[in-house]
Amino acid sequence: MRYLVISDIHANRAALETVLRDAAPFDMIWCLGDLVGYGPDPNECVARIQDFEHLCVAGNHDWAALGLLTLDDFNTEARMAHLWTREELTPVSREYLETLPTRLEQGEFTLVHGSPREPIWEYVLDLGSALLSFSYFSTPYCLVGHTHLPLMFVLDENQGRPCAMIPEVGVPVPLRRHRMILNPGSVGQPRDGDPRASYAILDTDAMTWELRRVSYPIEITQERMRARGLPRRLIARLEVGR
Ligand code: ZN
Repeated sequence: MRYLVISDIHANRAALETVLRDAAPFDMIWCLGDLVGYGPDPNECVARIQDFEHLCVAGNHDWAALGLLTLDDFNTEARMAHLWTREELTPVSREYLETLPTRLEQGEFTLVHGSPREPIWEYVLDLGSALLSFSYFSTPYCLVGHTHLPLMFVLDENQGRPCAMIPEVGVPVPLRRHRMILNPGSVGQPRDGDPRASYAILDTDAMTWELRRVSYPIEITQERMRARGLPRRLIARLEVGR
């Protein structure tokens, strides 16, 4: 099976469409949460993913849009974007988001948004949080999003500690040797200084993980955000990828 693994779409339809085209052909989508929040097209992104065979877990922004999290924990711009998103979401979109689980296990893979310890909020950003995370899932691999940074943590069982690496774009990394935590980066709001949409192809026949980046028409998303009165800082950050 060839899985398109995406995360943190953040209602950026132009980015999502570009990724769907660039990644084809694939058998199934695994989405690691935050379909909505920040961007201008929440309903369109929720509808689009349902055109494909897919599995999706809930992210903190999905929960915030549903009113399941207090907005006090978000910064001002995120809060403004959420208030807009809450108004904008149709009952059908809300219903879909409400069904999303926080954690899924599929064969050798555990899927969560944040971390396997705290799927909605915790970031797996450094070696400390990665080491802790390895004891909260029992499958060989855990797929996470939330940080908007493409990254992998590899556990060397002999040494008992993980190392971090950023996979080279377009080069399939073989799985099988060690347990890993894999993050495909963000489709709709990358934060590693590269504004291109980030995603991964997981090939479970070859057992490889391939990080991909693709340019999308950022100006279309920015224009749509402007038209909806979304915060200027959120519009500007898309072109710098921060
Ligand atoms: Zn996110």
